[in-house]
Amino acid sequence: MKPQIPARTQDQAKALIADLQQAAESWTPQRTLTWAFDTFGSRVAISSAFGAEGMVLIDMAARARKDFRLFTIDTEFLFPETYNLMDRIEEKYGIAIEKVYSVLSPEEQERTHGTALWTRDPDLCCSLRKVEPLRRKLSELSAWITSIRRDQTTVRSSARRIEWDAKFGLVKINPIVDWTSKQVWRYIHDHDVPYNALHNQDYPSIGCTHCTRAVRPGEDPRAGRWPGFAKTECGLHIIEPATDSTIAAKAAKIGN
Ligand code: SF4
Repeated sequence: MKPQIPARTQDQAKALIADLQQAAESWTPQRTLTWAFDTFGSRVAISSAFGAEGMVLIDMAARARKDFRLFTIDTEFLFPETYNLMDRIEEKYGIAIEKVYSVLSPEEQERTHGTALWTRDPDLCCSLRKVEPLRRKLSELSAWITSIRRDQTTVRSSARRIEWDAKFGLVKINPIVDWTSKQVWRYIHDHDVPYNALHNQDYPSIGCTHCTRAVRPGEDPRAGRWPGFAKTECGLHIIEPATDSTIAAKAAKIGN
C-alpha cells in the first residue's frame, strides 16, 4: 500500500508527528495501528520480543490487516519457550516473522570479546546482539511499532503514542503506551491470544536466557531482567539524539 502522507524530509516527518501527536493521545490502539498501516504501508513494521504486550499488538494487527510486517531481534540466546511461541504465531496468524541477527554469531562474539560477555559488560552484549541489528532493520523502514507501556520503566514514562524517534531517525508508534498490565492480560484472555509459557512460571518480562530469571513475590515485574546489574533497558528504547546524517538519510526515505 502506498503511503498516504508524502512526508519526504525530516521537517515534513516531524511536522506530521507534531500535527497528530496530541490528537493521537486519545486514539485507541486499533485506530493507531490502522493509521500506521494506512500511512506507511509496507514501510512500517511491528517490532516484538513476544512479551504479553507484543502479543496484544500482534493480535490487533492481524484483525486490522492480514499482511502486516512483524520482525524480532533474535539474539540467539532466547528461551525455547520463546522460539516455540514464534512458531505458534506464524501458524495462527499466517505470517512469516522477519528474524534479525547480530553480525556476530555467539561463537564469533566469544572469540572477539571473551566468554560470557553478558556477565561482564551487558551493555556491550546488548549493543552487539540487539541495538546494532535493530538499527540495521530500522534503516529499511519509515516507522516502527512497539508495545512499550509508560509504566514499565522510568525511561518509557514519557513515551507518546506517536513520536519522532531521534535515536534511529524514523517515526515510532506505541499503540498501547497508556495501557496497564491488567488491560494487557484482559485482552489476552478475552481474545484467546497465545502467550509465552514462561509467563505462567513467574517470568513477567522475558529476554535472553542469560539475563532473565523468575521474579519473587513482591518484586518489580522487571526485577528478573539483568539481575545483579542496575541495567533495566537493553537500549532499544533509550532516547538519544541521532546524528544529522542519520536523520537526513532516514527522513528522505519516509514516503518512498
Ligand atoms: S539480554 Fe543479556 S545475553 Fe541478551 S543481548 Fe543483552 S546482555 Fe546479551
